[in-house]
Amino acid sequence: MAIRAAVYLRISDDQAGEQLATGRQRKDCLEFCERNGWEVADVFEDIDYSGFTGKRRPGFESMLAAVREGEAGAVVAWKIDRLHRNLRDFVRLDETCAAAGAIIRTLADGVDTSTPSGQMVATMLVAQGRMESANTSTRVKRAMAQHAAEGKPRFGPYRAFGYDRRMDQIEPDEAEFIREAVRRLLAGETLYSICRDFNARGSRTSRCNEWSPTTLKRVVTSAYISGQREHLGVLSPGKWEAIISPQDLKRVRAMVAARARPGRPALSPLAGIIKCGVCHQTMSHWVQPVRPRRYRCSKQPGALNCGHVTVAADPVEKAVGEAVLVVVEGVELPTVAADNSAAADAIIAIEADMAELAGDYYNRKLIGKVEFLSVRDDLQAKLDKARAALARVPASNRPVKQVGRDEWEAMDVGTRREIAAMLLDRVEVLPAPKVGRVPFDPKRLVFIWRA
Ligand SMILES: [Zn+2]
Repeated sequence: MAIRAAVYLRISDDQAGEQLATGRQRKDCLEFCERNGWEVADVFEDIDYSGFTGKRRPGFESMLAAVREGEAGAVVAWKIDRLHRNLRDFVRLDETCAAAGAIIRTLADGVDTSTPSGQMVATMLVAQGRMESANTSTRVKRAMAQHAAEGKPRFGPYRAFGYDRRMDQIEPDEAEFIREAVRRLLAGETLYSICRDFNARGSRTSRCNEWSPTTLKRVVTSAYISGQREHLGVLSPGKWEAIISPQDLKRVRAMVAARARPGRPALSPLAGIIKCGVCHQTMSHWVQPVRPRRYRCSKQPGALNCGHVTVAADPVEKAVGEAVLVVVEGVELPTVAADNSAAADAIIAIEADMAELAGDYYNRKLIGKVEFLSVRDDLQAKLDKARAALARVPASNRPVKQVGRDEWEAMDVGTRREIAAMLLDRVEVLPAPKVGRVPFDPKRLVFIWRA
């Protein structure tokens, strides 16, 4: 019985001459089937201009279905990189083919999974794909659990308005300004008019600047003023005194969000991540009233920027988001921070005991060696146990949700940025090949992932 083959073509739509190449792909694949006496079950085709555009590939999915249902016993493609958009897709294809007993053949690079060497190439690709996603998801999970487990304030370069430098004490005058701003906002006053009044009365930000609606908004919508910590959009109790109640924070946030003009994100989701591909300096987020948002390498006195690269913000953010989503999809996010303070305190206490014990034996010579060793082993066992307890976040404290496309799209800009920065060292933007307004070319992006 003749083998029935599913021919798969992937076409880039943004390259000159690619149409020709597609014609050749198709012709070669069909000729190959004919030469081998294979019957062409169907030709599946997708248009896809980059590995990271996140466009659905209906052709690819239909091809998988055809293999699964036994309509095709072989998948034929021009080249292995035409066959899969990312390694995860290749893993799916390989699994589907293995389960259905179908083979994969590519013409240009000669992969043939019916032979041992072809199977090895496929196995290596699959292993690589699995390893990549396992490593990144373990790393992301670890980073998230660790962040969520800390109840401590995070210290930035500047003091938080309303508190002293260590957040041990409230600054009474500043706290009063915060309460007043919250009261007035909830009563319907605008950020702008409150700023004007505060500036006139001599109030200054913690960086000693006059208030602007942006800086005031940042303070009154910050979790810290309600004694809470915020990580990845999750609020958890902090270890410092609150200036306003968590309920008031919620109301202020709702109020400010309701008034915000749509389509103007306060923060760029790529802040600090996007760099110029020519001079490697940070690109700035360029917001102008009428034109679409852009990122640009902005040449300024005192800056090392070259000023040669500008790019539209939306397609870049979309492409980076899709790239990150490929990695974080399926990763579990903690939705409630775990309270690990008891375990952490226990470790500190045991370590102090061990230090004292060592002092009693080595320095003060209060105890003998046998006694020292016996007590030390005892303490070491306790310490191991406490460390294990700290590492193991109790399941009941940690409801999790899996990240999918919907969750990702529902995340706020800050959360997305935080996740992107965890995975990506930077994304460099190469100059546009032509001057003037040209459609965005995803090939201009160079992703540098964290090792
Ligand atoms: Zn530059």
